[in-house]
Amino acid sequence: MPILAHRTWALRRALRASHGLLLAGAFAAALLAGVFSRVGGDALPLQAALGLGWVLLFASRAIWRARLPAGHAEAGRLELELGLWALLGAYAIVQRFGGPMGALHPLTYAVLACVVALGRRPAAPVFVACALALELASYAVAEGGIARGPLAAHIGFVALFGAMSFALTRAEIARIRLGARQRLARERARAARETRMFRLVAGASGPPASDERRHGASVDEVHHTLYRLLHVLRQALALDTALVLMRDDQGLLRIVELATDRDDVAEGPFRPGEGAVGAVLRNGTTRLEHVRPGYTGLCYYRGPTNVCSFVGVPLEEGGQVVGVLCADRHVDTPFAPGEVDTLALCAEHFIHVLQNERVFLQLERSKQEQSILYGASQALGAALTKSDAIDAALDAARQIAAYDFAAITTYDGTSRKHAVGRAVGEDAARFEGLVFRDNASLTAMAVKNRHYLPYRGDFDPDQQTLFTRRANVRDMASMLVLPLVVREDALGTLILAARRRHAFGDRVRPTLQVLANQLAVSLANAAAVERLEQLATTDGLTGCLNKRTFLEELERKIRAAERFGRQLSLIVTDIDHFKRVNDTYGHAVGDVVIRELGKILREIKRETDLVARFGGEEFCVLCEETDTAGAVQLAERVRERLGATVFQTDAGPLTVEASLGVAAFPDHARTGAALFEAADKALYDAKHRGRNQVRAA
Ligand code: GH3
Ligand code: MG
Ligand code: MG
Repeated sequence: MPILAHRTWALRRALRASHGLLLAGAFAAALLAGVFSRVGGDALPLQAALGLGWVLLFASRAIWRARLPAGHAEAGRLELELGLWALLGAYAIVQRFGGPMGALHPLTYAVLACVVALGRRPAAPVFVACALALELASYAVAEGGIARGPLAAHIGFVALFGAMSFALTRAEIARIRLGARQRLARERARAARETRMFRLVAGASGPPASDERRHGASVDEVHHTLYRLLHVLRQALALDTALVLMRDDQGLLRIVELATDRDDVAEGPFRPGEGAVGAVLRNGTTRLEHVRPGYTGLCYYRGPTNVCSFVGVPLEEGGQVVGVLCADRHVDTPFAPGEVDTLALCAEHFIHVLQNERVFLQLERSKQEQSILYGASQALGAALTKSDAIDAALDAARQIAAYDFAAITTYDGTSRKHAVGRAVGEDAARFEGLVFRDNASLTAMAVKNRHYLPYRGDFDPDQQTLFTRRANVRDMASMLVLPLVVREDALGTLILAARRRHAFGDRVRPTLQVLANQLAVSLANAAAVERLEQLATTDGLTGCLNKRTFLEELERKIRAAERFGRQLSLIVTDIDHFKRVNDTYGHAVGDVVIRELGKILREIKRETDLVARFGGEEFCVLCEETDTAGAVQLAERVRERLGATVFQTDAGPLTVEASLGVAAFPDHARTGAALFEAADKALYDAKHRGRNQVRAA
């Protein structure tokens, strides 16, 4: 029923999507039949009806398309339809008023050019093909026949208009796109430059992509505050221009913000050291009065100016001049000492704004790092397995500092070997599972010294090795090998590498170290949980499952077998006259025999079968999807193999025999306890019938 409903729904959808095209086909058929070429009173009603139909359809489709939200899946199909309708309309009009040789024929070229220009790229050839077909058709139905020459010319024009329109619109779109991309790149470069100029990031490296937006907002905030400041200054001190120049990376002066009503301010950047601004940089606050007209010593004006008075105040931070606040007037009113003081105060205020913004960014960053670390510590705390812990740590590390390669290594102190447990990113498969001896690699040294390596996170593959000289990462400029330390012991390392330079600098390293410490604790906890689980589920002497775990598993498997209608068999083994072995050779030799039997059972069983030691020298084997006959066969193999095994003991060679009982689900029992009872009874039977044999329930 649901399938049928789905089919009907799909059919309706297909019809809805295609009925426009079907109608367009019908309209085209009318054109081909030359419905519009007939003149005379009796043809008029049909032509009028088709015309009205065309208008209604075109209008409804156009409204439908206009109402679709941007990027809607139906938009492309509707646009294609609209283009086809436009072409059909144009050819109908041409056919009605004079045919291919009529005065209105060029209308088809104009409409084709429009639909190709407005349509999407893949639709263009469809429109051209459609126009060519309609062109040919209009000749076929034209009365009196038309010469081949004009036909060839018309076809040529259709192709030419289509191609030209397509090429021109594509070129225009490409030009707009390129312009937008360049503008964006310039804008980003400016934001990055100003981020450095305002020293919103520490160090020479640009901000990581994740921080770019936040830095952009900070840069905007600085601009905003500065603009208001300059605006107020200009109003209050009746200035012509108030602006701030700052040094960029190259030491050039750039206009950071300005308030002016002059139109001859130059864009910059300017070389420092020249004119009045140079004097401010060298000597501090500089004042010019009664400047002669045509003065050329103000770098921020294009050419000579009529500035009469000028004051430049240095922007000082940490004993260094980082920029200049400039103010000028084109009327000859010298700056009063109070006005110069006001400018100096504003310069100081601007520096405070910068410092505040830096603190704000630092706080924001710490807040974000804390929340990442908090999330990671929640995930690491909840991780019960090593794999979960590693996932959580790598995830958090990526948020703190994007990496191109990451790995986790473990160190075994007794064999003095390192192993790469997990590797992700570039070339990861090459390193996963790699084992290497203690050497002079960054990994080994980080474990030995329990200190991160390499110094400052800079990596050079020609000078340094991550694992071994053969297994070294390439193309990475940044590297961070963090030891995983728990109570003075390094369990291994967390390795991060990135292609970009300075990826793991002072700003992120401490946070990553905290993360590594948390990971180390989580890994140690996961190992402890693993050990506990093993202790709780297995038998110490043989490593087989213990009785409790086996019985739980037995119930689970029986329920599964019941659900899927499968069979299941249980074999119980018991060594014959084992007391004698203990009495004759001692308990230790008895233990060796028990351990050996466990090994034989685990070797003989299939992957999915379970082996448990039930106590003493009694074992159970649970065989999935096996009937009684199959289990008896397996039991025979066990019996023969054990009987043929010669145990070399201190008291000479020794052999033992065993009896085995077999029972199957659902033939002999339907619960775990009953199945065990049935197999145990069969075992008892085997003992009674003279031992060293297999009996089924
Ligand atoms: P039967 O042929 O009837 O099975 O005779 P049996 O002597 O093997 O009798 P039973 O299976 O009841 O004997 C179990 C003996 O296994 C009792 C004990 O001395 C010995 N045993 C139980 N647990 C251990 C163990 O962990 N190590 C050793 N060495 N012997 C054990
Ligand atoms: Mg026994
Ligand atoms: Mg026994």
